[in-house]
Amino acid sequence: MRWATQAVAVNGKPVDDGALPGLQRIGLVRSVRAPQFEGVTFHEVLCKSALNKIPDAAALPFRYTVNGYRGCSHACRYCFARPTHEYLDFNCGNDFDTQVVVKTNVAEVLRRELARPSWRRDAVALGTNTDPYQRAEGRYALMPGIIGALADSGTPLSILTKGTLLRRDLPLISAAAEQVPVSVSVSLAVGDAELHRDVEPGTPTPQARLGLIAAIRDAGLDCHVMVAPVLPHLTDSVEHLDALLGDVAAAGATGVTVFGLHLRGSTRGWFMSWLARSHPDLVTRYRELYGRGAYLPPSYRGMLRARAAPLIAKHRLAGDHRPFAAAATAPEPEPVQATLF
Ligand code: SF4
Repeated sequence: MRWATQAVAVNGKPVDDGALPGLQRIGLVRSVRAPQFEGVTFHEVLCKSALNKIPDAAALPFRYTVNGYRGCSHACRYCFARPTHEYLDFNCGNDFDTQVVVKTNVAEVLRRELARPSWRRDAVALGTNTDPYQRAEGRYALMPGIIGALADSGTPLSILTKGTLLRRDLPLISAAAEQVPVSVSVSLAVGDAELHRDVEPGTPTPQARLGLIAAIRDAGLDCHVMVAPVLPHLTDSVEHLDALLGDVAAAGATGVTVFGLHLRGSTRGWFMSWLARSHPDLVTRYRELYGRGAYLPPSYRGMLRARAAPLIAKHRLAGDHRPFAAAATAPEPEPVQATLF
């Protein structure tokens, strides 16, 4: 393996002075750095299981997820998955962005699990916790094996991403759609280029994601767009939403879901520290909006629905196709879904 000389740990034992908290118990093989991923360490693990069952109480439109990565170099300040890194004894902030766990055998394990006679071919969602097309996927290429395993077993699948790397797999995804129900969603909620660089610093640009939406449509697939999370007082103006939804519609999106920011667990502190640096004038207003809770108050959610609904109608984005992946990132009650109108 080309990166062998760049290993910083093998079998969980550091070969430099780097600490590896919490990784041994999830099957760490080695930790590596690579010049083209400056500042990022990949922790390669051999997972024992690939399918994660969602608790029945979650009331989501799918019962299983597969996540090949933990941590995400897309580094969105608001990422709701940040607290999951703390189970590995990493912090939810910079570590989440730079210490990426890679389940190198995930496709092989998934294929074994899908071959069990007890597998009932419930829908499987990809991209519900971390982005399956984050930059690491360019090196590890886990998704072709995952998609192939699901399609070959007759299992419906959904993909949600901000990553333009999905283009690489469009032929494979289109082929899978011939075998099983497939839904593809792109997340795009920030149209302003400067704000994008600040709040989603590791993600492809809004323009690149609009190009991705068009490419998905050109491949003959529907493309739902998650306009989420909408950031109060930053991306919730009529002007911003109108322009973004117009761009999304022009790119060919077949439907949208709009909902506001939620700030659960330790994500709240990480996001608020960014807000204090970049938009100190908004700190008090956010504290008033969120109080001690994680969700926006009903009054704000009602305002956002009332604001978004006519814009969705104006741009003819009220399609009847809602992917089963969409709800994965919509734990906030009452999101604005195009399908509700
Ligand atoms: S792309 Fe998704 S998973 Fe990755 S940091 Fe952003 S919100 Fe989190």
